[in-house]
Amino acid sequence: MSKIIVAIDGPAASGKSTAAKELANRLGYVYMDTGAMYRAITYLAQKNGIADVTDKVIEMTRGLDIVLNFENGLTRVFVGNEEVTEFIRTPEVSAKVSEISRIPEVRTELVKTQRRMADRKSIVAEGRDITTVVFPNADVKIFMTADLDVRSDRRYKEFIEKGMNVTLPDVKENLSKRDEIDSHRQVSPLKKAEDAIELDTTDLTVEEELQKITALIKKVELNKSHHN
Ligand code: C5P
Repeated sequence: MSKIIVAIDGPAASGKSTAAKELANRLGYVYMDTGAMYRAITYLAQKNGIADVTDKVIEMTRGLDIVLNFENGLTRVFVGNEEVTEFIRTPEVSAKVSEISRIPEVRTELVKTQRRMADRKSIVAEGRDITTVVFPNADVKIFMTADLDVRSDRRYKEFIEKGMNVTLPDVKENLSKRDEIDSHRQVSPLKKAEDAIELDTTDLTVEEELQKITALIKKVELNKSHHN
């Protein structure tokens, strides 16, 4: 069967990862969490004390080899030989990641890696610029949204389940701040691609979400198999 690219964009905690992961599992596609890459760069920049020095962040990014490994429902993130999976979702990284993601040269480097990952296999990729910049010709393009309060609740619960010490107002503040920066940056801002299908998940269960997206993918799969 020919290769299919499913691209999902949307604001923070809109349900992209949950949907994308599950779709990849069910369909046997590769799952690509591009936010994890921006988070890995942010974490390392902070660890090296250079997060506020743009030139150094760019230089660091160019020398890094980021690998995403999706196993048993979890994306493991490696930079060179170092695994950074457990360090990239902290409040510290979340507070800085949108500033690092604004740097055009950082984006250029990561987009190269992202396109390489989709060279050979069918893929479900999610982020902020997947439908607009990384894979503008994707077979299925979704713009996922949900009310800020619903998104904040969902993310807060995830943190609490992981035993992290956060408050709901802090989570909400971080999501809305990131959305603001991500949607207003000069390069590759978060926006709905003209031909993307908007999916508001505020009142949907995960299963309902998945049904809707799967129906779109099945249509494409069928179409492609007829043409081969
Ligand atoms: O997806 P996640 O919320 O983990 O992404 C973290 C941050 O990474 C976003 O707030 C955004 O600043 C950046 N990002 C991006 N482009 C992507 C994916 C993520 O700028 N394709």
